[in-house]
Amino acid sequence: MRVLVIGSGGREHALCRALAADPEVTEVHCAPGNAGIARVATLHAVTPTDPDRVAGLAVELGAGLVVVGPEAPLVAGVADAVRAAGVPCFGPSAEAARIEGSKAFAKEIMAAAGVPTARSRTCVTPEETAAALDEFGAPYVVKDDGLAAGKGVVVTGDRDEALRHAAACGRVVIEEFLDGPEVSLFALCDGSTAVPLQPAQDHKRAYDGDEGPNTGGMGAYTPLPWAPADLAERVMAETVIPTVTELARRGTPYTGVLFVGLALTADGPKVIEFNARFGDPETQVVLDRLATPLGRLLLACANGTLGGFGPLSWREGAAVTVVVAAENYPGEPVKGDVIEGLSDVGGDAYVLHSGTAADGDRVVSNGGRVLSVVGTGPDVAAARAAAYEAVGRVRMRGSHHRTDIASRAL
Ligand code: AMP
Repeated sequence: MRVLVIGSGGREHALCRALAADPEVTEVHCAPGNAGIARVATLHAVTPTDPDRVAGLAVELGAGLVVVGPEAPLVAGVADAVRAAGVPCFGPSAEAARIEGSKAFAKEIMAAAGVPTARSRTCVTPEETAAALDEFGAPYVVKDDGLAAGKGVVVTGDRDEALRHAAACGRVVIEEFLDGPEVSLFALCDGSTAVPLQPAQDHKRAYDGDEGPNTGGMGAYTPLPWAPADLAERVMAETVIPTVTELARRGTPYTGVLFVGLALTADGPKVIEFNARFGDPETQVVLDRLATPLGRLLLACANGTLGGFGPLSWREGAAVTVVVAAENYPGEPVKGDVIEGLSDVGGDAYVLHSGTAADGDRVVSNGGRVLSVVGTGPDVAAARAAAYEAVGRVRMRGSHHRTDIASRAL
């Protein structure tokens, strides 16, 4: 089977790497990819958000499966176009991807399905916003209703800042603050059935100690030794199955990965957000542990045969990933810095590329999150040590990374 992966980040590098390791996958292609993905896949310079061109490429390649990585192509209808061209596609329709594309739509589905989540109000005018802020109280949570790559959310104790963010967004969702550690759970869905992957934890804030602005994610690990043993089972029963059932009932069956961002509150796990795609960087560590061949698994989702697939298998041990970011990220990143030491990483660690580009035989930075270093080991402490040892070998002017990834698990 030939597989075409759409996207160019660390998530897509992890997907391509895992697909290349599946004996049933004969060729991995990626559009557009990056300098690291080029080592495990054939790259194609096709715009990921252009449904017709992506579908055309899939047909031209004779792909047996297309895997859509990021949210923007999904919202643009890439999965619909690929399926219409007769190629199995792992990724929800544009209509179903609204569960990520519109926070208000996600809240509507959750209410209809009885899913535990924060109480919320959708607001447009400053008066509505002010009333909702006062209803829920501080800390204030203000979310842009549109797609904002994980950066449209402000959580603040400052009411004026909350009002300013709302005014800058237009339509916003204001909600109650959920207190508790955050967990990411990915559920693979085939339209009617769903199976969970192992829970992971991301680190959203830019700096150590969860300080600084929100980012796309600065590091992740799995498993979560501190989380309740029945977490995945409980979230499947309370959240994933009711959500998938509600979407199917509305005529928009969900195919692909439903990413559930949760807060483990005193009242149990509550949904912070849904995403319509794999989370980055959590996917890096979750796929590292998955022993089931990925191509066959994602194809079963695309073909609606997940029900008969059988249980997933997992490798023992742990994985920790640390994101190395460019100078000034999550602000406008400095690009074009040379990355050195990549070939010095080995043993229990490896590098996944995010924002990189090839410049002759050098690799240079080309985005905010430049690369990730994944460390593996028998437990989180060992995996974390392997990751940080390897991060020390990678050199890039102006780069920064968090030094406390996975410290909650120690
Ligand atoms: P989102 O894009 O919805 O995932 O929000 C980004 C981040 O903002 C989350 O990972 C949380 O850290 C934080 N956040 C969002 N909603 C809430 C909430 N209701 N309570 C507490 N923190 C939240």
